[in-house]
Amino acid sequence: MKNEMTVTVKDQLKNELVKGSPLITKEGLRGEIDAPQGTLLRLVDEDGQFLATGYYGEQNKGVGWVLTRNQDEAIGQAFIERKFETALSRREDFFNNPETTAFRVFNGEGDGLGGLTIDFYAGFYLLSWYSEGVYSLRDEVVAALQNVTNCIGIYEKKRFDTKGQYIEDDDYVAGERGEFPLIVKENGMNFAVYLNDGAMTGIFLDQRDVRQAIRTKYAEGKTVLNTFSYTGAFSVAAALGGADKTTSVDLAKRSSAKTIEQFSINGIDFEEQDILVMDVFNYFKYAKRKGLAFDVVVLDPPSFARSKKFIFSAAKDYTGLMKQAIDITAPQGLIVASTNSASFNMKKFTHMIEKAFKDTDQKYKIVETFTLPADFHVDRRYQEGDYLKVLFLRLL
Ligand code: SAH
Repeated sequence: MKNEMTVTVKDQLKNELVKGSPLITKEGLRGEIDAPQGTLLRLVDEDGQFLATGYYGEQNKGVGWVLTRNQDEAIGQAFIERKFETALSRREDFFNNPETTAFRVFNGEGDGLGGLTIDFYAGFYLLSWYSEGVYSLRDEVVAALQNVTNCIGIYEKKRFDTKGQYIEDDDYVAGERGEFPLIVKENGMNFAVYLNDGAMTGIFLDQRDVRQAIRTKYAEGKTVLNTFSYTGAFSVAAALGGADKTTSVDLAKRSSAKTIEQFSINGIDFEEQDILVMDVFNYFKYAKRKGLAFDVVVLDPPSFARSKKFIFSAAKDYTGLMKQAIDITAPQGLIVASTNSASFNMKKFTHMIEKAFKDTDQKYKIVETFTLPADFHVDRRYQEGDYLKVLFLRLL
């Protein structure tokens, strides 16, 4: 990030920035940014007063992030090292806990550098880049990380093609190459992860506390349906928590082998569990026809998904999904409703859930609420960074 340009900020964005928001929006700027991504932006108000220094990086939200509000602070490797040091000190408890060896060490704007997240997997570090702009800092980021940690090896995911999707690549960056699957621990459970195999690693670290709650409080002696199950992480937690039986449903063909693998490394006989490669919406119809009723139903759909017959958008379709789940939940059963959609907040999510219960004439109460766990550090002045919303709903 060597180039720099001055950009004028309109009053509305100025107010947001002054309140502490780190997000630079396109509409908030006067004129276009006529420079390559990665250019440093000297943000000034309509009177030319300095507000902050940020960088230009196109993401689905915004065109960049604030880096510093100190006019004299230089942006380079030393700046990044300071951010990393602070982030690492926030996670000391995680580093000292041998029962959990996979967690987030750097959470983008929550840790002072939007567009970059870093996850720790048993000594390996995984960088996720969310814009070409932040990727222009790659050399400095890698050097800084090697300076402030004892990393074994570094991998990366580039998530910034024109559609904001993952760019297929080797993913290896520096240090030793890992042997995959790498087995990590989470509250004593084992999970197989792959840092070199596509966009996803095999586990979503932000659901750690939810898995632990299911395992320790809600699974014992229950039948558990895990929809959109991916590698079956919620099913593993439920099985280890003493579930009578788990049923995992996911459309992706590879989900079956991946789920078998996660069960196996936890000493669970996968043949006693149901693992179905199937469209969840077809499964709901099948289960209803058969009169099935589960004690616990986990709903964790992607924000947006297209299958052969259906297009699902969490923002539009969550109420409908919930209604179908309610239909196949046993009396006094529990629904774990989760969404990672950043396009609506907890209030709207709660309303969507409420509507589903109203439409089905079913009484319920919210027994637990989860947002991002502590390692996904959120800046208190930018709560929009907390995209995760999970409600545990008890049917009455
Ligand atoms: N709940 C999982 C993560 C889900 S990721 C966990 O905690 O690990 C989203 C998953 O939904 C993907 O594995 C994808 O294959 C699956 N998926 C998307 N649309 C689907 C559909 N219509 N039916 C079944 N699975 C679907």
